[in-house]
Amino acid sequence: MRILIVEDERSLREGLVDLLANDGHEVEAVADGPAAVAAGESRIYDLVVLDLMLPGLDGLEVCRRLRQSRPTQPILMLTARGAEDDKVAGFAAGADDYVSKPFAVRELLARVQALGRRAGAAPADAEVLELDGCRIDLGRHTAGRGTTSVQLTPLEVGVIRWLHRHRTRAVSRPELLERVWGACGDLQTRTVDMTVAKLRQKIEQDPAAPQIVVTVTGVGYAWGPDHTGG
Ligand code: CA
Repeated sequence: MRILIVEDERSLREGLVDLLANDGHEVEAVADGPAAVAAGESRIYDLVVLDLMLPGLDGLEVCRRLRQSRPTQPILMLTARGAEDDKVAGFAAGADDYVSKPFAVRELLARVQALGRRAGAAPADAEVLELDGCRIDLGRHTAGRGTTSVQLTPLEVGVIRWLHRHRTRAVSRPELLERVWGACGDLQTRTVDMTVAKLRQKIEQDPAAPQIVVTVTGVGYAWGPDHTGG
């Protein structure tokens, strides 16, 4: 894979370059937001590893701009451990996944490989999803039927992104908590159910008989009605 690393902290940047180059990737690195946007607009990368806190433009803004010029650009965001709001904001801005700093090398490589597999094998994430008569614009955070449109919250967009991205399988409540909310210790799986209930009010024709975010008994939730679970 050709990977762009965006990290202002020199030792970490050089460490990431070495790590990913040793893993067989072609790696480039920049140290600030404007350089990241310029690189992302002029070259095509299989993956951008993007630090959140950057000089010039922060990672969220870089993420939005990269998404504007290349809606399918896979982006792995680096966040500070414990900064749960950052993860929610990162997903809302269009990041595909994140790793908290300081991270375990194995975890980072696993996430990089997962994103690479998806970029190569699966159809890219769409920014506008249509299912069961509902049109969801993930870029604008809106959902609607016909001429009506409502605003989606960042968490609702995060849930939709994660379920849609993993649409070939059911997703458990703990996985949603970890990957969308950021694994807050004091959050309970009921939080997921409450967010899904509100989301269904916005996107489902009949929230009591959902066709878009469906319940998979004994597992959790899934995207679309064609799921047997597991
Ligand atoms: Ca930084």
